[in-house]
This record gives sequence, structure tokens and C-alpha cells, in this order.
Amino acid sequence: MVTAKAWVLKKHFEGFPKTSDFDLTEIKLPNLKDGELLLESVFLSVDPYMRVYSRTVMKEGDIMIGTQVARIVESKNPAFTVGAFVVADSGWRTHFISDGKGLHVLPSSWPESLPRSLALGTVGMPGLTAYFGLLEVCKMKPGETVLVNAAAGAVGSVVGQLAKIGGCKVVGCAGSDDKVAYLKKIGFDEAFNYKTVKSLDEALRKASPDGYDCFFDNVGGEFASIAINQMKKYGRIAVCGAISLYNDSVPQKGPYMQVSMIFKELQMEGFLVTRWNNRREEGVKALLKWVMEGKVKYHEQVTEGFENMPMAFIGMLKGENLGKAVVKV
Ligand code: NDP
Repeated sequence: MVTAKAWVLKKHFEGFPKTSDFDLTEIKLPNLKDGELLLESVFLSVDPYMRVYSRTVMKEGDIMIGTQVARIVESKNPAFTVGAFVVADSGWRTHFISDGKGLHVLPSSWPESLPRSLALGTVGMPGLTAYFGLLEVCKMKPGETVLVNAAAGAVGSVVGQLAKIGGCKVVGCAGSDDKVAYLKKIGFDEAFNYKTVKSLDEALRKASPDGYDCFFDNVGGEFASIAINQMKKYGRIAVCGAISLYNDSVPQKGPYMQVSMIFKELQMEGFLVTRWNNRREEGVKALLKWVMEGKVKYHEQVTEGFENMPMAFIGMLKGENLGKAVVKV
């Protein structure tokens, strides 16, 4: 009999999550029935949506929601082979039983040289968010200028690189000088530290005096309200995330951007990557190819040890990650 470790939400988050909001527990797993498989998590993802959905999707005492790359250790399902790796949405647990539904087997073309954790980042949900958000929501065209914030993170770093592949000028911002140096290294045309600039308005204007055609917004709040006023006519804003607001107990006022929206005839659209679930394979294939060709670079912030999941999650919300934050069991 296998005993799984799991992290539960002990107490609903009030403001910024704390390690005391989580509890580590053990679950004894039953023997497999026909059609089932036993999986062992190898890498787990920590993502901003876990903070957003904590109240709506989870009750206190529930296992934390989340995605992992897991190895099949036992199979009573002929469709799945022992030793194969899958992406699963089975929450913060070391082992689990599945009937195979909803599992995504890693592509057979996955090269030995690439860490499988990339299936949680650049070649997984965050990469797909960048891919579909840019193509389908921003509808970027060669020669345009694209702005992205939280640019050194899992989604943002892919947005910038895909926009370069698409022939655009790319401006990004992030919360430390090291992150800014990384953005320049991976090909951003302009990058700045939003925490240290005297004026965000001026920094955005300096980076692109003519304004922005596309704005891929991961941050929302004050940043978005300032950036939207610097859009070019007919600009498109992909509202991907609003991480600056996720930990607020009291909603912030504003932003007030209606005048720019009207007179520049802007389009602003919120989206969830799940809209393109039926095109997942197309996105994974394209991202994997670009990574293998070296056209899309990646960085991962790997935290060792399942027991450190809460710390990794909180660290990501604080901006301690460069690239995708993952936990290695
Ligand atoms: P990241 O890897 O970018 O990690 C989060 C980053 O957000 C931190 O590293 C930090 O970087 C930045 N951040 C934290 N607080 C603030 C703040 N107050 N102001 C500005 N930046 C802040 O996470 P992801 O790439 O996974 O997610 C990025 C965004 O995309 C999130 O808003 C997320 O919810 C959204 N998202 C949306 C999806 C969708 O389907 N719509 C799917 C996936 C993600 P820094 O040091 O630069 O501050």
C-alpha cells in the first residue's frame, strides 16, 4: 500500500498567503482497480491562479489545486504504460490514482536533453497562454510593438520571445535588475525595472515613444491604467492576469481608462487559456519545436522538496522566481 503526502488548505488566505495557511497530511491509497493507474509526482507547478481560485474552488481542508508532471508507476489501464510521464491536474500530492481521464501524455518527441518540468511552463499551460493570447487575442502583426509585464515570469518570458519570432518590437518590465538583464539576454528590445523607475509613465514612453499596438497584461491595476493610455490607435489589450490585485482584501479603485478606449478605438479582451483546450496539441508542438531550435529560451526556478510547496508558492507571488516556478519532489 502506498502512502501519499498532500498539502491541504488549512485556512482561507487573508491577504498574502502564509505558510500557516497550509497543512501537510498523509493519505493511504487503496489497491488499483481495473482501468486505474498509480502515479508519482515528479515536478509540481505553483501558479498565481491557485491564489485566485482558493476561495471559489476550494474549501478549508481540501487538497490544494494544481498540476504536476507524474510518472506512471503501476497500470491496470491498457492505454497507459508504466514508466511514461504525464501532465495531470491532481493537486498538491506526491502520489495519486487516476482512471486516465484528463491526463496528457508527454509527446513521444520529448528530447532527453529537456527537463520534463517544461511541460508545466514554457511547453505547458503558461507557454500556451502566451501562444494563444498573442495570436488570438492580441492578433499581433510583424512590425508592431508589444508590451508585456511580469515579463520575466512563466507566461511573460514566452510572450516576449514569441513576439520577437513574430517580427515585433518587444518591451517588457519586471521587478528586479537581474530579471531585466535576463530579458535583454533573451532578446527583449527594451526592458526596465518597474519597481525602481521614477515614473512608470515616462519609462513606458521612453521605451516606445510611438506607443504600443499590443499590450499583454499579466499585472492589471495601476500598471494597466497607465499603459492603456499609451496604446496606439486600434491597439489590442489581452487581459491575461491581474496579479497586482490577487492578494487584496479590499478591491482597489479604478483603473479609469475609458477615454483612451474610446478615442483610440481600442479592443480589450479577457481570456482563459482553457478556451483553446481543443488546440492544445498544436500549441505544445509549436512551443516544443521553438525550444528545441533554441528560438525560445527558458529558465526555471526549481524548489527542491515536496515539503517546500507553500514556500515556493508564496515566493512566486512575491516575485522570487525567474521564469517558471516549479517544485521537484
Ligand atoms: P509568473 O511566473 O510571472 O510569477 C508571478 C510574477 O508576478 C512574479 O514573479 C512577480 O514578478 C510578478 N508580480 C507579483 N506581484 C506583482 C505586482 N504587485 N505587480 C507586478 N508584478 C507582480 O506567473 P505566471 O507567468 O504563471 O502568471 C503571470 C500572470 O498570468 C498572472 O497574472 C496569472 O494569473 C496569469 N495567467 C493567466 C492565464 C489565463 O488563462 N488567463 C493562465 C496563466 C497565467 P516581478 O518580480 O516582475 O514583480
